[in-house]
Amino acid sequence: MRNSDITIVGAGPAGAVLAAGCAAAGMRVLLFDHRAPWEKPCGGMLGPGAFEEFDYFTAYPHPVYFSTALRCTGPRSNESIRPSERPFPVLSRQDLGEYLIDRAVRCGARFVSERIVRLDRGKTGWSLSTGESTYAASLVAGADGVRSMVRASVATPIPRPHRSLCCGYTVQGARPEHPLIRCEDLRGYLWLFDRGTHQSAGILSRMGDLGVTALLARLDDFLAREHPSARAVSRYAALIPSVCDPAFFDLPCAGDDWLLLGDAAVHVDPLTGEGIRYALAGARCAAGSLIDDNPRSYDESWRAAFGDLLRAKASHLARMDALAEAFGTEMYDALLYSHFAGDGA
Ligand SMILES: Cc1cc2nc3c(=O)[nH]c(=O)nc-3n(C[C@H](O)[C@H](O)[C@H](O)COP(=O)(O)OP(=O)(O)OC[C@H]3O[C@@H](n4cnc5c(N)ncnc54)[C@H](O)[C@@H]3O)c2cc1C
Repeated sequence: MRNSDITIVGAGPAGAVLAAGCAAAGMRVLLFDHRAPWEKPCGGMLGPGAFEEFDYFTAYPHPVYFSTALRCTGPRSNESIRPSERPFPVLSRQDLGEYLIDRAVRCGARFVSERIVRLDRGKTGWSLSTGESTYAASLVAGADGVRSMVRASVATPIPRPHRSLCCGYTVQGARPEHPLIRCEDLRGYLWLFDRGTHQSAGILSRMGDLGVTALLARLDDFLAREHPSARAVSRYAALIPSVCDPAFFDLPCAGDDWLLLGDAAVHVDPLTGEGIRYALAGARCAAGSLIDDNPRSYDESWRAAFGDLLRAKASHLARMDALAEAFGTEMYDALLYSHFAGDGA
């Protein structure tokens, strides 16, 4: 059995940044992921100013597609181009993963390209198995995404009303002038983002509203009408957290020997589904708490960093749900459109 001070399950943005922070402070870190770095189904859009917020992006070696405006369309032919004073980056998840995992390894973390298939919590610590080998850890961090196995062993899984279904394609041949968000006729939205060498096209809807076939049919229809030269090169379906009750963020994300971060902690914008920035910010908070040898303080630090924002957005989503229930999806879409267009909550 191999030992570590901290074992991190999942090497997406959350896990890789946590690994780098802890390893740089001299902790023995094991970082597991059977797939990463990979082109995770994701728009890859970070908000304005994201690169400035995290200093490690100054050395980012991969291509980044910067946009200076967002095109939004909504019900009743509403349409706007929302300019941004600071460009917002759109990047490939494969590139981001390579960069953050390399950085973690350079800081001293050990990256193991294997899947954790079993997790046991005993009186003296954790035991994690990949099927091939078993590892001991005094603390386990769950950065293993929306279907987190670590979350399932320390907290309740994400309930169905707090999830959305999204599906889409990596596309070639569709070159929107600006990243596009379209809020129409569903509790969710459709997007098309250019990433230089390819585009990310997707559609998301609250769980239980529409299935994969219906969602893809709408996306196909949109692409055929607005981007007839678009060619889908790969297809995906995925879940995304969309918390519609602010009290959900009162649940703890840390104990004496565990913590959750990123999607596993449901640190995702309830309205838009954006989570990369929260994954990076949460990992910074988690690393600080672990370096201080006080894992429970992580709950205070992530709440201080972005808890109020997530709560406010969850409240807004609850109001939008109530309006959709009473008046249909048009009201929901109008509010979501306002949010993206910059004149909403
Ligand atoms: C279709 C789609 C579009 C999105 N678009 C955007 C966007 O444009 N902008 C934005 O900010 N956010 C977007 N998001 C959300 C964003 O992808 C996530 O919030 C972000 O990736 C969370 O990072 P993470 O590190 O917590 O988890 P992830 O990036 O999901 O990484 C989790 C990792 O854990 C690994 N893993 C899982 N189980 C195990 C196991 N048992 N053993 C070992 N490894 C394991 C997985 O292989 C994975 O690499 C989108 C999400 C989806 C689904």
